Amino acid sequence: MHLFRPYDPQNIFAKILRGEMPCFKVYEDEVCLAFLDIFPQGPGHTLVVPKVAATNLLNMPADALGTYMVSVQKVAKAVQKAFQADGLTVFQFNGAAGGQTVFHLHFHLIPRQEGVGLKSHGQGGKASEEDLLAHQAAIIAAF
Ligand code: AMP
Repeated sequence: MHLFRPYDPQNIFAKILRGEMPCFKVYEDEVCLAFLDIFPQGPGHTLVVPKVAATNLLNMPADALGTYMVSVQKVAKAVQKAFQADGLTVFQFNGAAGGQTVFHLHFHLIPRQEGVGLKSHGQGGKASEEDLLAHQAAIIAAF
């Protein structure tokens, strides 16, 4: 079953964490790396990835969860501030049946504006480098 599959160290987020693949990094500390989703469901869509090798929330070591969530909240505050967002949508998918496509735990943070809809998960289309660079700079400046 996908939900309890072994961790694959070749997944794309593991490669990003090891610096083998590029990303639009907005934040890093000892427990997480946060970077822009390059197929955003909305402007500023950010992913917060723990450095621990956990496929999903169910097998994240409980003793690493608290510090990770503190970092998720820290990034969430910067994302909200950068976009002066009216709201913030947080997604987290577990297993293929749960909508997960990259099997390393991550939280999605999407700043929201009143009356503006979201693109569907996985149907965002690739953002332009120009937009990603601008959003990266705005979020970094908001910490
Ligand atoms: P999930 O479906 O919850 O596993 O989400 C995986 C997310 O990773 C999707 O929203 C993808 O758009 C995003 N994604 C895939 N490859 C990359 C990448 N190289 N850099 C940034 N985001 C990515």
